[in-house]
Amino acid sequence: MTGQRIKEGDSVLPGERLGVIEEFLPGEGTFQDEDDIIYASITGLVHIDMKERKISVKGTTRKPIYPTRNDVVLGVIQHVTKKSAIVNIFQIEDQECPITFSGYLFIKNAAGGYIDQMRDLFVPGDLIIARVQQQADGLARLSTVGSRYGVVQASCSRCGEPLHLQGRRLECVECGNYEKRKLSQNYGKIPNSEPPTEITQSED
Ligand SMILES: [Zn+2]
Repeated sequence: MTGQRIKEGDSVLPGERLGVIEEFLPGEGTFQDEDDIIYASITGLVHIDMKERKISVKGTTRKPIYPTRNDVVLGVIQHVTKKSAIVNIFQIEDQECPITFSGYLFIKNAAGGYIDQMRDLFVPGDLIIARVQQQADGLARLSTVGSRYGVVQASCSRCGEPLHLQGRRLECVECGNYEKRKLSQNYGKIPNSEPPTEITQSED
């Protein structure tokens, strides 16, 4: 006796028997042995496609979400001092973080050249794309050197409306204000980049 039959939505572990070739085609997350028995190859949930008679397992174990070296992250500038900025990281390599991580951006890793003031590059509330240089003690050291990295979304510091790219500057069409940032080449083009609401209000 192998117990009850596997059905849609069942949670399975690697090596768990799912069925036989006579019943199903083995899909993603499965394998078959010489006896034509189909097993789960990953931990996940069973999906049975009745039309194609295919059984597959959708993985539920993702790689742990943690900023590690060379990860590309999305975050919101939380605080800016003369030489550094604190960033709330909420997305790592296209995966939303369950909690936000703190990132630290040093002025020498911000634009690649001499910069007098961090405030010339970033303003609290800016959405940025950055690369993790190093991760230690729960703090990710970030870099925004390179055309891919920098601000991808910003608001007018005078009236709060979204800023639009105008040449190499940002323009507020609402009040006519111009602002400068360390821009990413992807300014205004980052999809699914809505930061969680609790970290968007960080203007102070
Ligand atoms: Zn404005």
